[in-house]
Amino acid sequence: MNEKLLEIQHLKKQYGQTVPLKDVNLTVNSGEVISIIGPSGTGKSTLLRMINHLEEATAGKIYLRGEEITSPDCEMSQVRQKIGMIFQSFNLFPHLTVVENIMAAPVALKGLSRQEAYDKAKELLASVGLSAKTFSYPDELSGGQQQRVAIIRALAMEPEILLLDEPTSALDPTMTGEVEAVIRKVAASGATMMMVTHSMELAQRVSTRILYMDEGGIYEEGTPKDIFSRPQKERTRQFIGQLKVLKISIDSQNFDIYGSNADIAAFCQKNDIPVGQARYLMLLLEELCSQILLPRLPDPLINLTAEYSPLEERIMVWLEYNGSPFDIRESDNKLSLKIVQVIADILEYEQREAEPLGNRVLLRVRKRS
Ligand code: ADP
Repeated sequence: MNEKLLEIQHLKKQYGQTVPLKDVNLTVNSGEVISIIGPSGTGKSTLLRMINHLEEATAGKIYLRGEEITSPDCEMSQVRQKIGMIFQSFNLFPHLTVVENIMAAPVALKGLSRQEAYDKAKELLASVGLSAKTFSYPDELSGGQQQRVAIIRALAMEPEILLLDEPTSALDPTMTGEVEAVIRKVAASGATMMMVTHSMELAQRVSTRILYMDEGGIYEEGTPKDIFSRPQKERTRQFIGQLKVLKISIDSQNFDIYGSNADIAAFCQKNDIPVGQARYLMLLLEELCSQILLPRLPDPLINLTAEYSPLEERIMVWLEYNGSPFDIRESDNKLSLKIVQVIADILEYEQREAEPLGNRVLLRVRKRS
């Protein structure tokens, strides 16, 4: 355990104008189970495919046990034997029986005798409850069974690391459980794994570490608890909470409050946000931005971000603004402040000197009964 297995340095991948990975740096120790989560198109699969050399790096280096596998001198067929990969589609050889599928690579690449490979395959099949399918052909198996075979076929090579690219997403929902059970079992056996998944539940249950990918790299990482219970960065929070986000920017004294109110109404309608909450949001814009802040800011720059969590049915509002330090709770405009205090059941102020918009207010909109 805790031995450095994989090291990725300044990895970049570019496809024409698209640069899904700008600068990825990562160290994976043996025994770690890493889940990679994040919005579509953020390069999660690309990262796995580059580790397995199915894609070439545009720049950067990958080392497996200290050997640079991105080097042109590297014997990739040797390296691939050390890396097992499971795809969304099961990719079994259709013309071979289940047991032959599992035996093929150990015989051809690892020099095992057919008997040794057969014994090993039988053992693996028993471990995932598929002994009865030993001599079946892939098309006689359900999707879940095929994926279980694909996993043990990879394990038969005793890889140093197992890469799984959305292993359950092509499956009928009734079959994800059986495949997830196998993944949990493999994870618990001490295998080193990196898995791209959309299943937050699976990621939480099996992983020792979660990578949240966004903005061209690993945007935030941590234990499942860190990422799912207390994500620190904005985009992670939005992704984890499936938050609906509305942003309003005010950069002039003459900003269009009617237009912004219409944006709030449309946002609330689209996301089924209760009308009362929508009204509170409009009132906040009026009282907090127009009445309290704008008169103080000759060259205003105010960013308002409203995040609605459908799970909690709550709106959080983040307000950032320029100007000298000013806690809105000290405003002379007592009437507007009173209204804001009725609307918000949490109201906090923070000053961040190094930031261009150094004043930050966090508000939670009260629920109306
Ligand atoms: P994710 O797994 O996070 O959904 P991908 O790694 O599949 O993302 O893709 C990242 C981005 O790279 C996407 O914008 C995708 O369109 C682009 N991309 C992936 N593979 C190719 C390719 N072979 N040719 C061109 N663009 C690609």
